[in-house]
Amino acid sequence: MSSSTAEADWVSRLADEVIAEAGQRGTGKPVVVASGLSPSGPIHLGNMREVMMPHFVADEIRRRGVACEHIISWDDFDRFRKVPFGVEGVDPDTWAQYIGMPLSSVPAPAGSPYPNWAEHFKAPMAAALDRLGVPYRGISQTEMYTSGAYREQILLAMAERQRIDAVLARYRTKAKTSPDPEAAVADRTLRKPGKALSAEEQAAADVAAEGSGAAAEDDGAGGAGYFPYRPYCSVCGKDFTTVTAYDDATTALTYDCACGHTETVRLSGPDGHTRGKLVWKVDWPMRWAYEGVVFEPSGVDHQSPGSSFVVGEPLVAEIFGGKRPIGPMYAFVGILGMAKMSSSKGGVPTAADALRLMEEPLLRWLYARRKPNQSFVIALDQEIQRLYDEWDALERRVAEGTAGDADTAAHSRAVRTAERELPRTPRPLPYRTLASVADITTGDEAQMLRILSELDPADPLSSLDPVRPRLDRAATWVQTQVPADQRTRLLAEPDTERLSGLDETQRKSLDILLDGLGEHWSLDGLTTLVYAVPKLQAGWDLDAKPTPELKAAQREFFVLVYELLLGTDTGPRLPTLLLAAGPERVRTLLGG
Ligand SMILES: [Zn+2]
Repeated sequence: MSSSTAEADWVSRLADEVIAEAGQRGTGKPVVVASGLSPSGPIHLGNMREVMMPHFVADEIRRRGVACEHIISWDDFDRFRKVPFGVEGVDPDTWAQYIGMPLSSVPAPAGSPYPNWAEHFKAPMAAALDRLGVPYRGISQTEMYTSGAYREQILLAMAERQRIDAVLARYRTKAKTSPDPEAAVADRTLRKPGKALSAEEQAAADVAAEGSGAAAEDDGAGGAGYFPYRPYCSVCGKDFTTVTAYDDATTALTYDCACGHTETVRLSGPDGHTRGKLVWKVDWPMRWAYEGVVFEPSGVDHQSPGSSFVVGEPLVAEIFGGKRPIGPMYAFVGILGMAKMSSSKGGVPTAADALRLMEEPLLRWLYARRKPNQSFVIALDQEIQRLYDEWDALERRVAEGTAGDADTAAHSRAVRTAERELPRTPRPLPYRTLASVADITTGDEAQMLRILSELDPADPLSSLDPVRPRLDRAATWVQTQVPADQRTRLLAEPDTERLSGLDETQRKSLDILLDGLGEHWSLDGLTTLVYAVPKLQAGWDLDAKPTPELKAAQREFFVLVYELLLGTDTGPRLPTLLLAAGPERVRTLLGG
């Protein structure tokens, strides 16, 4: 994967840029790439792009033998803006009282083993990142602020508040910031680029914007002058505070709170005030400089005129003496099938949810194969079967050496990192076959083993282990994503009325099928047989090219078999269904 080839993929090209930029900065330290996540609720699968983009770039840099650190900023000192919908163990009326507190001060949902709201939602994300092979250094902003790590930066921002205000003023006239966080969220989702979104995609976009930590684009304006530091009230713990005075000589800061409390604190010194934070538009560039970030992408909501990434450039340079990172904008990631996903989480699929349905390399591949400016949809509904077919085809092309450079690169990024190989299924049978088998056996292991062994009698399975973990993901997909009324259920008794009403052609076609079962009892054999029946019946050669007439006859025959086996006119692929039913059951139901 040479970086100099014209065919290099987007990751390789970005890694080139980042390494060059780091070289120009000449710090001699490991290259720093960054992501920011807000644990304000379940971390939506769509927000994974915030992590996966820097991950792939960092991984490519490390593959080249250059030291690189991926930092993930947990924005757990951000305010709790609203109670997310439908979180288990959370009564919205009760939790509404915590709005305005830092996320790390809000109680965790009832029954949670974690000490607070932020930790409760960080934990599953951290576990998913570990499974996905994403190494990183997590930085709790609560720890950073409350330990006083940013004290010098805060004092600097307060001392330079007029210059900061002047920089921000250059942009305020271009884009008025909305004082209403609700309106700000709605506004951001409306600015998504590209084609119009479907209702489902829009819903996903709204959810993503809610949880993206695209923290309110607050710049600190208003009140009795411009102050970039906002304290959390020492009495009510919330940020409904207004700074009314600041003494540059003593660093004494006075604030009023909506709860009625008024207080004067000192920002400097070892016991200076630490229950407060810089407003987002100042906070972000401060951290670019503090951590020396060279690469940090962001969503479209951060990159419109006057938004944080734009105003961050002059702020980091003029105030904090740093440089804005290379920060491409990434497009929206939608989710299909979220409606059916775990209702306990308000229909917000997380990375952990996706990993219950698909293997780690596949999820990595979804993010690796698309350029940052391409939006895409992650399918957790029926489409997951086609996605898996596509992945299996890619694996074959890579193994044969016939895949293109970009496809080969995306595959390599999916299956391994600079540190390790991701877990794979030793014998990757088609996902749709595994799903059908799990469906029709309702997950019974002995039955699944029998059927899967019969798929290829020349190389039978002696246990289910070689088809795991893919089998387990497919079984979970059936359990959680396929509605009960769409599961495959064989008829308990033959449909005698239907059987007695068959015409001669229909009866004959079934007899040809039944006669061939013994000889063709494998996935390949049954596939040949079911397509051959209408040909044999019409007296055609088995190699006959499919004509519209033949296709119609095949379709008619398939519908007949589905109706007699399932009582519906459609179902899983017929050979898989026959294998799953077993020869005795097939004979009984088809009147053999
Ligand atoms: Zn208060």
